[in-house]
Amino acid sequence: KRIPLVAGNWKMNFDHLEATYFVQKLAWLLRDAHFDFRSVEVALFPSFTSLRSVQVLVEADKLRIRYGAQSVSVTNQGAFTGDISADMIAHLGCSYVIIGHSERRKYHPEDDANIVDQVRAVLAAGMQPILCVGESFEERRQGIELDFAVGQVHDVTRDLNEDEAAKLIIAYEPVWAIGTGMVATPESAQDAAQAIRADMRSTFGADVADTVRILYGGSVSSKNAVELIGEPDVDGFLIGGAALDADELARICRLT
Ligand code: 13P
Repeated sequence: KRIPLVAGNWKMNFDHLEATYFVQKLAWLLRDAHFDFRSVEVALFPSFTSLRSVQVLVEADKLRIRYGAQSVSVTNQGAFTGDISADMIAHLGCSYVIIGHSERRKYHPEDDANIVDQVRAVLAAGMQPILCVGESFEERRQGIELDFAVGQVHDVTRDLNEDEAAKLIIAYEPVWAIGTGMVATPESAQDAAQAIRADMRSTFGADVADTVRILYGGSVSSKNAVELIGEPDVDGFLIGGAALDADELARICRLT
């Protein structure tokens, strides 16, 4: 049984003071016996500049909240001004790194080759990659959205071995749904997750396909979370806007 994951991608929001305030508030909101961190995993993705503060807080208070980074360098060290390596991120206690978010693909030179290298760097450092895929409005208009999203997964994962592939988390985030309030229907989130899982089954076998968690992202809120998580292949959420409000994020965690 796959444990659902509620992942809050803060993007470029919150300095380290706001980040620590948020983590404390979320932990406080979820501290009662009705919420079980063993049956719903909760992870936050602060900016690099906040990771150390979040780590210190999580470790000091033994919080069950996990955290990770929003991107990573493909190289491990050296003359790469401004880059952050996977080992640096891992040494801060991060469990996950988001890779290939559509905003990174758009504003930075992140193509499939670079994304494959990021996946390998994160796995080598002992963390789990959250690989983001999803079609834009144009592919959806043409009716090729499933092939497009599956192709993105396939191109990045095909050279991994089974052990590596089993550590992946996939986030299906249709670009037209990100930050727009236009959430995908539960059926269409399920269709994409099912198609991605079927592709992984044919590449890596049933064990890997049944292990990998597939998240939905794009205008998730407490109003649509229940229907989405009801779909058999949707294993959680990657949340932007709604993850900037601790009350709303706690509500989504409880509904998952
Ligand atoms: P929104 O939840 O704001 O649509 O953002 C989704 C997203 O991009 C998460 O990575």
